[in-house]
Amino acid sequence: MNLSVYIHIPFCVQRCGYCDFNTYAGLDHLISPYVKALCREIEIFGQSLPETMRNKVHTIYLGGGTPSLLKPRDLQMILSTLEYTLGFMAEMEISLEANPGTCSLQKIRGYVGAGVNRLSIGMQSANEHELRLLGRSHTVGDVVQAVEIARAGGIENINLDLINALPNQTLDDWRNSLKVALSLDVEHLSLYSLTIEENTMLYQKVSTGELLTPDDDIAADCYDVAREMLSQAGYLHYEISNWARRNIAGGLFECRHNLQYWKNLPYLGLGAGAHSYLDGYRLINVSHPWQYIQKLSSPNKMHCAFPFSPATQDYYIVSPEEQMRDTLLLGLRLVQEGVGEEDFFRRYGKKMSEVFAEEIHRLLQKGLVEWIEDGQKRIRLTRFGQLLGNQAFIEFV
Ligand code: SF4
Repeated sequence: MNLSVYIHIPFCVQRCGYCDFNTYAGLDHLISPYVKALCREIEIFGQSLPETMRNKVHTIYLGGGTPSLLKPRDLQMILSTLEYTLGFMAEMEISLEANPGTCSLQKIRGYVGAGVNRLSIGMQSANEHELRLLGRSHTVGDVVQAVEIARAGGIENINLDLINALPNQTLDDWRNSLKVALSLDVEHLSLYSLTIEENTMLYQKVSTGELLTPDDDIAADCYDVAREMLSQAGYLHYEISNWARRNIAGGLFECRHNLQYWKNLPYLGLGAGAHSYLDGYRLINVSHPWQYIQKLSSPNKMHCAFPFSPATQDYYIVSPEEQMRDTLLLGLRLVQEGVGEEDFFRRYGKKMSEVFAEEIHRLLQKGLVEWIEDGQKRIRLTRFGQLLGNQAFIEFV
């Protein structure tokens, strides 16, 4: 089975007003020791990796935080350590998240030279007032420039992230963001509705009434507008929040790394706060970069047997029942493909339609899912169900 690797880079220039990710501003002095700790974690993991998992890495995703704060030579060091330790497959997808304003042409060329072939740019909005509301450190012009630089540097697969359902957002604001994103002619778009998390600046403003919480109807309207505009522009809606264009070979510029998550397949998470799903275990690393560096500077050999790392903070074993639930919960996000009855049976030796007969019956009655025939029987969200995805997912939690 192929393996995906996620690498967390928990450093940012500043903290955005809506962000509750495991990321820190003002810790740039830790980047260099952090990169060394990452390489150490990869090497230690590689020592106990089962032979059957060697040379199986097919996707790498550098997320954050702001991975584009890494120097190309640091990235080169991380990727080459991964390659000689775990082994890569022939057709690698190597994605890096970049924030507008953090990438020069020279840097992008360095990343491409190190192996990066997909860039995910945090655009978020094409309206200056929304970027300010979100506390982003860039302008719309920086986004346009970031795409131009990425192209000039040799990136042929670009994603843009956009957020909707912002406080006070109008449908015209959202249409404008989509229009500008489409004009940039990228291969992939990820569109998310804002969730206002506790311990963020935006949460405080909403709690004190300074800002109004976006209502669900606006979020639904934004989703409908996106489905229409993106489909007209030739993008295929393949995951509940993701759209991709076709490539020359007729395939899709879908994010292969994220498909690994949505298909509930194994991944190795490296770095502070990273999650892994390996060999039936879910594991999580210590979250603070300084703690992480310390754990890796004096690794306790007792905790280095596969699938553990010296940085593992917590873990649990996923029961067969939970694995099957997760496969439905995640697979229903794939709005075209859904989950195949035969695929499920091959994996678990049971029929999905029998194991989850009651849940599926309820969802069919509500019109949230449908069976389709596509070489095999598949279950997927209906168009209506895509609007109310959480109501369907909750059945499998
Ligand atoms: S750039 Fe991204 S990770 Fe960093 S603070 Fe902003 S939203 Fe969070």
